[in-house]
Amino acid sequence: MLKLYRKWWLFLFSLLVSQYGLQAFGQTNFEKYRLKTVSDLTEYEALVRQDSSVALVALKQYIPNIQLDIRYATSNNLMGEPMYQSAGAFLSLPAAKALQAVQEELKKQGVGLKIYDAYRPYAVTVAFYEKVRDTVFVASPYRGSRHNRGCAVDLTLVDLKTGKELKMPTPFDEFSPQAHSQYAKLPKKVLKNRQLLQEVMLKHGFEIYPDEWWHFDFSGWKEHPVMDISFEELNKTKQ
Ligand SMILES: [Zn+2]
Repeated sequence: MLKLYRKWWLFLFSLLVSQYGLQAFGQTNFEKYRLKTVSDLTEYEALVRQDSSVALVALKQYIPNIQLDIRYATSNNLMGEPMYQSAGAFLSLPAAKALQAVQEELKKQGVGLKIYDAYRPYAVTVAFYEKVRDTVFVASPYRGSRHNRGCAVDLTLVDLKTGKELKMPTPFDEFSPQAHSQYAKLPKKVLKNRQLLQEVMLKHGFEIYPDEWWHFDFSGWKEHPVMDISFEELNKTKQ
C-alpha cells in the first residue's frame, strides 16, 4: 500500500513539474498565487532567443520624441508612494512597433504620446494587491495584469509644440464614471481628443479597455508570458 502511495506522489510531482517547470518551485510569488512567471533573466534571454516577439524593449529607443511620465516611479500615483525604483517604459517588441506607428501617424496632426505606464513587473502587481487587497482597481495576482506581459499601456496625447497634455475626461488613474471609455457627458473638445486617441490606437492593433480611457491592451497579449524582470535587469540586456 505504501509503495502505491509513493508512486502516486511521484506521478503527481512529475505532473506538476511538467506543467510549471522546476524553476517555478521555491519562488515566493508562485507559491502564494500559483501563477507561472518568467522571473529569471537567463530564462527570459533564452525565451527571447527562441521568439523575439516576447522581448521587452525600451520605448525611448523605438519612438522618437515620446514623452514619459512614469507615475509609479513617483509618489504621484494611486498608491501614494513610488512602486518602481526607476522610471522604465518597456513594451513587448510588436506592441512597441505598433506604438511607433501610432506616434508617426499622430505627428501629422502635431500630436504625440505621453506614457504613464507600460510593462510592469509582476512583483509590483503583487505589491499593489497586497497593499489594497482589492481586485476591482488592481489586477488579481492569481491571473496577473496585461501590463505584466508587456502588452498594455497607459497613455495620453500631448501637443508636440507645447509638450502639454490634450484635455481628456479625467486625470490618469482617476476611477470615476467619467473615466469610462464611452462616457458621453463631456465637452466636445474632450470627446474629440479621446476619440482621436481611441481611433489611432485601434487602427494599430490595440484594444480599448472599457473602464479606463488611458488604458489599451495590445491584441495577442495572451501569447506573451507574465514577466517578473525588473527595469534594472532589462537595462542590462541588449536592446
Ligand atoms: Zn493600465
